[in-house]
Amino acid sequence: MTRILLVEDDNALATGLKYLLGNEGYEVDISATVAESARLIGQREYDLYILDIGLPDGNGYELCQQIRVEHQTPIIFLTARDQEQDVVKGLELGGDDYISKPFRTKELVSRVKSVLRRFSTRITSNVLISGDIKIDQLQARAYLRGKEIGLTPSEYKLLLLYMNNSKKVITRIAALENLWDVEGDFINDSSISVYIRRLREKIEDDPSEPQYLKTARGIGYIWDQEVRRG
Ligand code: CA
Repeated sequence: MTRILLVEDDNALATGLKYLLGNEGYEVDISATVAESARLIGQREYDLYILDIGLPDGNGYELCQQIRVEHQTPIIFLTARDQEQDVVKGLELGGDDYISKPFRTKELVSRVKSVLRRFSTRITSNVLISGDIKIDQLQARAYLRGKEIGLTPSEYKLLLLYMNNSKKVITRIAALENLWDVEGDFINDSSISVYIRRLREKIEDDPSEPQYLKTARGIGYIWDQEVRRG
């Protein structure tokens, strides 16, 4: 069973979210303080952390740093306002996504699913199809109108990341993290732009007017087409 630690000091919100996520089949532990969370993190294995930033005895950033010392477990921040500096700080410290309060509970559930899917190493379907593009995950090959696209391992991994998360913005930082283990060497923010440009040249009819891999200005990129699983 997928186990989530929800760190939130608003008791009503925490209880509501636990109920909602429980209905989706997740097992949820609630904690309202940094101290209690630190204790739970040391004791139990979690598949996902949802961290409020403002807590009575500290903040969610500290917990994120503590988790990242030992775990690559995905982290979603709950931010009080959609403040760019909060978001950037959270992502820099190793957060994987954030959601701004107030949010619709349905949106949080869909983020949770999306983050867990992104980090799942299990391949649930071998073939992804979107428009004229097809990925065969068993062969690790991609095709455009039936013709194999010559992709480097990084380009393949990026394509897979974006197609697996279609219609959702993937931040540049999340994309960078995803590439890290492929390349092994240093990848910076501008190299992501280079990878995306090369990928577009291979998959888009007009790379300057992309139909699949679009830019979410200032944040990242989005696969803006439906994806079917075969
Ligand atoms: Ca709070």
